[in-house]
Amino acid sequence: MKIICLARNYVAHARELNNPLPEKPMFFMKHENSIVRGNKPFYYPDFSSDIHYELELVLKISRVGKNIETKFAHRYYDEIGLGIDFTARDLQTEARENGAPWEISKAFDYSAPLSDFLPVSEYTDVNNLSFHLEINGNIVQEGNAGLMIFPIDVQIAYISKFITLKTGDLLFTGTPAGIGPVTIGDRLEAYLKEKK
Ligand code: ZN
Repeated sequence: MKIICLARNYVAHARELNNPLPEKPMFFMKHENSIVRGNKPFYYPDFSSDIHYELELVLKISRVGKNIETKFAHRYYDEIGLGIDFTARDLQTEARENGAPWEISKAFDYSAPLSDFLPVSEYTDVNNLSFHLEINGNIVQEGNAGLMIFPIDVQIAYISKFITLKTGDLLFTGTPAGIGPVTIGDRLEAYLKEKK
């Protein structure tokens, strides 16, 4: 399986990092060894001193698909969850300044803690889901899927032009505004709302 992640998919988040708004979806990849499940701890890696949290809605791909049309894209995912796209912001800034790929800052081991997944059918509208992140009991990040620059189905259509989607692949749909650093000992809790 593979993990595909949208970058700059919320206006307020692109602005907080002084990034221009994308004209097309921008994506990068994480890997199977990025995954952390079952609320296991995330260990702060020694190669970074500025690890940031980015809470994101995550979809699980349920069918093989290539060149998927936007209007059929909803048939290619059946479960939704939450994930944190941990980012070594210091390494990412350095990579961006050098015009280098982002993998070193995004795809490292254990950089993608995941929640359990729930059937999409349990939600009225996945394109209008609210979610938020608390650190040590304080809300630090709030998002709603309706604020995505490129909605879920547009992302799937675009990505599948280049990369065949396969059952079990994960799509991180981008982070809303409010990203920030984590410190050792922080407790992160993510919430998804609006269940039927
Ligand atoms: Zn992200």
